[in-house]
Amino acid sequence: GKPFCECNTCYGGHDCSIFSTDCAADVDSGDPLFLEPFWMQRRAASLIVIVVAGWHRMSYTFYDHSFVSQELENHIRRVHSIARNAITKGKYIIFGGGSTQLLGAAVYALSMNLSSPAKRVAVCPCIPLYKSQTDFFQNTNFEYEGDSSLLKNSSKTKTNIIEFVTSPNNPDGNLREAVLKGASVRAIYDHAYYWPHFTAIPSPANEDIMIFTISKLTGHAGSRFGWAFVKDEDVYQNMQKYISVAEMGISREAQLRALKLMKAILQGNGTDIFDYAYKKMSDRWKKLSQIVSLSKRFTLQEIPPQFCNFFEKVRGPSPAYAWLKCEREEDTNCNSVLRAANIIGRAGSIFNVGDRHVRLSLLKSDDDFNLLLHHLKKLVVTEEDDA
Ligand code: PMP
Repeated sequence: GKPFCECNTCYGGHDCSIFSTDCAADVDSGDPLFLEPFWMQRRAASLIVIVVAGWHRMSYTFYDHSFVSQELENHIRRVHSIARNAITKGKYIIFGGGSTQLLGAAVYALSMNLSSPAKRVAVCPCIPLYKSQTDFFQNTNFEYEGDSSLLKNSSKTKTNIIEFVTSPNNPDGNLREAVLKGASVRAIYDHAYYWPHFTAIPSPANEDIMIFTISKLTGHAGSRFGWAFVKDEDVYQNMQKYISVAEMGISREAQLRALKLMKAILQGNGTDIFDYAYKKMSDRWKKLSQIVSLSKRFTLQEIPPQFCNFFEKVRGPSPAYAWLKCEREEDTNCNSVLRAANIIGRAGSIFNVGDRHVRLSLLKSDDDFNLLLHHLKKLVVTEEDDA
């Protein structure tokens, strides 16, 4: 048979089907490979066989002088109307290089023409991207302040504030609303995970700035494609300005790929991807919860069952990440505890909270997930011995 090193990840044998349990379970990144089998089953519908003559599609813009493919825009709006996760009517749409770029564009647009620099905040645990973007693209119009729960009692302040609201939240999967209110507060809703895959949809989102990404909808993170819905025309114009100054529009090839994927999703009644992804993520959550429930050492976040506008019934959790907590007093660094058991997670401190928590990605391939289950089970079963 083939040695392990010639097989993908941690498998060996002549057809690479023998599982090597020596391998680490790498569940650090949010790489959404869990949808790979979905696309394998839809080979023809998602296949791009392009014959593009060398002199075709050379322009910066489409024939209507826009950076945005009208056909793709229409398809995206249809996908939202099937998922019933957002009200898109009456809102402008902007395309970006992933939602990462649109977050930057939204901050820029909300910080324009202010009398004093805007402070940017988010309730933590929260992803580090919001802070790292601010720190990196230093700008006198905004600065990163930190956890918005710190500012909760200062709602009378005249300080300009931009609150990032990640709903459902990365890492804990909970649905969120802005905590800060007032005339000087503007919210950016990061809805990367607001799909039936990962959460109940209590009602369609209808906020002023809503950001989505193909990365977590179809799993095509490498295509770098996201979109934002924006209510206010000025904010929309300023976000457009940012995209055009930073990038002169979004790659037409990326838009072509996104269009193909949207067309594939919309085949039939358009619900297959949501049924598939919800089932897969909820199966994973059940398997993981079952193992953790046997443990006294670890606990998982709680996500209550909720009514879902898409499934039209109450449904259980199917989060993108497990937010695991080490309960033993001596386990102050939960990530090291897991690392010693061959599980690579992401430390709580990265999400601006203590290292008692670790984020485990449930979005990766079946191989990664199965390794996680295997190693975690072993750790939990031997718990009493090392207590
Ligand atoms: N927002 C959230 C909450 C995320 O978790 C991520 C990536 N994991 C992003 C934005 C960025 O996604 P992308 O740039 O691939 O669209």
